[in-house]
Amino acid sequence: MSCNSDCHTCPKSSHQEAAEALAAAQSRYVANNPLSKKQHELAVESLPGGNTRTLLHTSPFPLCMKHGKGTFVWDEDGHKYTDFVGELSAGLYGHSHPVIRAAILSTFDEIGLSLGSTTTYEARYASLLCQRFKLERVRMTNTGTEANLHALAAARHYTRKKKVVVFNGGYHGACFSFGGGKAAPNTADKGDFVVVQNYGDDEAAAEARRVIEETAREGDLAAVLVEGMQGAGGCLPGSKEFLLAAQEAAKNTGAIFILDEVMTSRLAPNGLGQELGLSPDLVTLGKYLGGGFSFGAFGGKKEIMDSVYDPRVKGSLAHSGTFNNNTMTMCAGFAGLNQVFTEEVCVELNRVGDVLRGRLNGVAKRTRLRFTGRGSLIGLHFRENGTFESQERADLRDLFWFEMLEEGFWTTRRGFIAMMLDTPKDELDRFVDAVGRFLERHAGIMMV
Ligand code: PMP
Repeated sequence: MSCNSDCHTCPKSSHQEAAEALAAAQSRYVANNPLSKKQHELAVESLPGGNTRTLLHTSPFPLCMKHGKGTFVWDEDGHKYTDFVGELSAGLYGHSHPVIRAAILSTFDEIGLSLGSTTTYEARYASLLCQRFKLERVRMTNTGTEANLHALAAARHYTRKKKVVVFNGGYHGACFSFGGGKAAPNTADKGDFVVVQNYGDDEAAAEARRVIEETAREGDLAAVLVEGMQGAGGCLPGSKEFLLAAQEAAKNTGAIFILDEVMTSRLAPNGLGQELGLSPDLVTLGKYLGGGFSFGAFGGKKEIMDSVYDPRVKGSLAHSGTFNNNTMTMCAGFAGLNQVFTEEVCVELNRVGDVLRGRLNGVAKRTRLRFTGRGSLIGLHFRENGTFESQERADLRDLFWFEMLEEGFWTTRRGFIAMMLDTPKDELDRFVDAVGRFLERHAGIMMV
């Protein structure tokens, strides 16, 4: 660990210099975005903090987007941005993909909304999802959160046990968040989660084995729930050895191994788990698989899925949801996966992402900035010494966010980039240049 914001030993500490740069950037932000500010003042009158999605709140007020087209968005004040938020990975197809558009219009015109019945469209999409992600059975939900909720219910029902082993930094939905080594206060069934304090490496593998075995010995372990790469946790990939160790320990103890692929299914043609040689009992999906609409799904081994969720089986669990099979999602999701995000397109997008991340780390050499992730999902981290062992520098991350907005790049303030399909190569080049110029402009506070 190195100095912190109270440091008095550094010459003019980089914290003080960063605070000045940040204050200046924030003043420019306020001056440049009067209509976003006005909108925020209106929104707080009906939404707590003007917000209905906590992640999107940014101080002093969030930027309010007016519309999107292709891979660009425009804010209320008329600024244009390349969209690197990519709706936190759900926006894979961009804002106006012609195939998605055609699916939406034809669904509306020829099928209609909400038929209140079983449809061929849900079975068609289920079959594609099973084939693509190597699942024997699948069920649809409305969100990734719900997918995890029901996958856990399945594991608990199947094993007749309750406890779930998860990992520090894991995010499995609005009510399943495990940052800071513990379950967030709003975690559903909070007392049932056991959090492994490490994630991703050899040390984490050993700890995972120990915690899984210990919890199983106490007699109440239902499941192990893990991401192949922690998304919200900062785009930190888990090693193959780590994931295999967690899977093996789960299987040896009779716990259900659930791989959360809500974010990672787009990273490889059949999902990240298949790419790494994992064989999870259950997988959860979501995000872009709704073709731009709200979506989640969970599935896997038929022995588990059928015995838990087949309504013809006595004692099976109910899994209801008015919009689980809504026609818009079933058709747009199908069209996207079937016609647009084919296995070949998936490989190519992630190759482009790997190249981009490599170039970004190239320009960030010897600075506090590091880019992590895999393929088309990129995390950015500012650390005191440029190493992950050193303290995080949220001030530098904020400065980056403000200044990338001025350069015309829409990224999440916490440092996450989800690439969309078809982002022009020029824009990727322009981003690498902008990052390089940012680091040069602030060399005094960025270099290690
Ligand atoms: N699991 C993971 C790994 C996620 O990244 C997310 C969403 N960020 C979820 C679950 C929850 O998905 P949703 O927001 O659709 O509920």
